Amino acid sequence: MRSMFPFLIVFGLAAVLPFTGSDYWTLIATRAAIYWVLVSGLNLAVGFGGQLAIGYVALLTLGAYTASVLVAGNLGPAWPAFPALGAAGVVGAVAGVIIGLPALRLRTFYFAMTTLGFATILTQVALAWQGVTGGGIGLPGPTLPAPFDTGPGFYFLCLAFAAFCTWITANVAHSRFGRALVAIRDAEVAAEAIGISKPALLVTVFLFSGATAAIAGGLFATLQSYITPDAFTFDLSVLFFIAILIGGRGSILGPLLGTIILTVLPEFAAPLVAWSTFLYAALLLIIVLVIPGGIADLLDFANRRPLERNRAIIPRPELLAEILDHGAARATIDLRGVVLSFGGVRAIDGLDLQIEPRQVHGLIGPNGSGKTTTLNVISGYYRPEHGTVGLGDVDLSHQPTQARAGLGIARTFQTPRLIGEASVLQNVMIGGSINGTASFAESLLTLPRHRRDERRLRAQATLALRVVGLESLAAVRADRLQHSELRFMEIARALMLHPTFILLDEPAAGLSTDEIKRLGELIKRISQRGTGVLLVEHHADLIFDICDTVTVLNLGRELAAGTPSDIRAHKEVVSAYLGA
Ligand code: ADP
Ligand code: MG
Repeated sequence: MRSMFPFLIVFGLAAVLPFTGSDYWTLIATRAAIYWVLVSGLNLAVGFGGQLAIGYVALLTLGAYTASVLVAGNLGPAWPAFPALGAAGVVGAVAGVIIGLPALRLRTFYFAMTTLGFATILTQVALAWQGVTGGGIGLPGPTLPAPFDTGPGFYFLCLAFAAFCTWITANVAHSRFGRALVAIRDAEVAAEAIGISKPALLVTVFLFSGATAAIAGGLFATLQSYITPDAFTFDLSVLFFIAILIGGRGSILGPLLGTIILTVLPEFAAPLVAWSTFLYAALLLIIVLVIPGGIADLLDFANRRPLERNRAIIPRPELLAEILDHGAARATIDLRGVVLSFGGVRAIDGLDLQIEPRQVHGLIGPNGSGKTTTLNVISGYYRPEHGTVGLGDVDLSHQPTQARAGLGIARTFQTPRLIGEASVLQNVMIGGSINGTASFAESLLTLPRHRRDERRLRAQATLALRVVGLESLAAVRADRLQHSELRFMEIARALMLHPTFILLDEPAAGLSTDEIKRLGELIKRISQRGTGVLLVEHHADLIFDICDTVTVLNLGRELAAGTPSDIRAHKEVVSAYLGA
């Protein structure tokens, strides 16, 4: 259960503030509430999605001008205030996507520059389009109808918006969309393999954060009562961005407190206002150095408790029947004449390989012989230059990585890909992202389909963790796990797809002898449930114990293939690879 308690305290205190009789602090709090409406949405893109959208003052500007211009009647007839605020939200949503689109192609810093560029362009437009925006002289902000036309009345309206934004963004954060965002941020390759579509997800989030930012802009214009282009300074952009960083990535409470702190701070240091950018930067530096995880990390008491030492991983393969119930065998994965080179190196050089359902297919060979590359070709990470990859009648060669998840092809990685700041349970739940049915909008409001999704994903992830023997660590942050535990966690995540095929890249690396035995038993039982397993491994014992078929690679080519006993008797293999 996530804790609502800190939010109740923050908003409870905020609600009694006007009754203390200080108009001045009510005004500051109004500003904080408006900023939070913007930051809450931006937090999904920056804190959860890891996108460096630093120019969000642009959307505040856009929302402020849209609402003000419509209410003033400078474009057609004058609008009432609330519909104008709604229109600002719509315009902001569209602009949010336009600003966000470069994020799908550009790497972090270039994207940051484009968001800043947009802010500059908007200010120039506001200055130049005098007939509508009043140019440098500006125009009045919207006046709201009673009871929102007084200081406290407007404050409670902004507070209601802020509380609502907190609620809906927390809902998203605790949905498959929130987890997918964090996966894109911390483990993009794993996210792709799970079937998460980065473009669709980011566009949705930019749409949402654009709308909230522009609505905040409309409220900001009312607060200012008169807006000019210089009301929207670069400092504001910095404030929004830094509030999230000092709050902590992937948290709602942290950035909320960060926003409050950064809004209030200049009031205590009035003589330093001119230095506020410098103050923010210094504060950020201190936080990064002292508490890199931000405020959220400071408040994360549960993860300070020491973990039990000498914990053993005891998988329970007998529970696999509840996850893998395919019944009859399905199609075969079929590689024909696959060639792939990196520069001059032929990593795979004309490989034929068939992986059957219900079988464990071992892939062995010296380092650099092309095992991981073969796995990457099957999982769609690389496209073969020549040859085909098929699943039954389906040609996979030109399908995107994400399509594999839909076909039930799951994988693990040679280096475990984890979301360190998320719990083990969440890391596993991510594996079932594509099985969710609720839309983003349904998740925003926790409608019934969203709640059903969450219940089911949670139940399945718990079951998958019991299968691999990690259920006692479900609530622990993933970056606190030992290496061997992470390997089992990745298998649990792969099981979330109910895979028809599972591709394992050196799952036994770093495991103890006992753990390797239990892993072998688990893999064997997975294949007996009907799932085809491709096992890339160095541990010869494991390979010969559990494989039905073994392929030996050398320099990207098949050196030998057959049953374990064939391979053990193969002279070239023994001399070149197995030694002895
Ligand atoms: P294995 O998993 O069998 O140890 P790999 O499939 O990782 O081997 O690598 C096969 C060959 O391809 C090696 O020579 C490796 O250096 C090269 N290789 C793999 N990935 C890349 C890459 N992304 N860029 C350049 N060369 C690569
Ligand atoms: Mg490898």
